[in-house]
Amino acid sequence: MREGQRRVLVVEDELTIAESIAARLRAEGYEVDLAHDGPSAVDKAVQVQPDLIVLDLMLPGFDGLEVCRRVQAHRPVPVLMLTARDDETDLLVGLAVGADDYMTKPFSIRELAARVHALLRRVDRSQRPGSTIVLGDLEIDPVERRVRRAGEPAHLTPTEFELLAHLASKPRAVVPRERLLSEIWGWTDPAATRTVDSHIKALRRKLGADLIRTVHGVGYALEVPK
Ligand code: CA
Repeated sequence: MREGQRRVLVVEDELTIAESIAARLRAEGYEVDLAHDGPSAVDKAVQVQPDLIVLDLMLPGFDGLEVCRRVQAHRPVPVLMLTARDDETDLLVGLAVGADDYMTKPFSIRELAARVHALLRRVDRSQRPGSTIVLGDLEIDPVERRVRRAGEPAHLTPTEFELLAHLASKPRAVVPRERLLSEIWGWTDPAATRTVDSHIKALRRKLGADLIRTVHGVGYALEVPK
């Protein structure tokens, strides 16, 4: 593997789809590993430590949600989830599982590669070190990418981390959902703002419901906890 080369794990039981994703990503310079069921995906992720996982939802063994849970328990890694139908994507967004982006089949391989680039760029940007942010009992360490509330560590996905850090950079200020969507996800489709909502929901679940205030019809603001 060349230095600086990014490693993507593609988990998909439909072999033709898996192979065409792998071929496209390899052509764009990525190192690609493949897995075709839930258990081997988890093993492979632990073994190769990918920079990103492209993860099909319906898999033999156990499904993509379980893969996501088990892999994220080891270390945070960005996940692009593939689903067979729009309503599955709606369900996942509602559940706020630890995926950073979703695509519904059939999708264009070119679009998938663009989403992979965007996701990795987003993670790189959020890993640029800064100094620790302390707001009341909330502590955000951008170098170690650790978050604590009242001394208790919280395990955030890369996107959740960036969303929190973004809100925390201007505490109490109301940030419109559309702006969060364009600055963190790089998307401009206003219909996609429910993605922001699902990540806010996950942050509240992990850090406490009082931390982020909803300003109806506008966006979100981080409250300074006591
Ligand atoms: Ca499948």
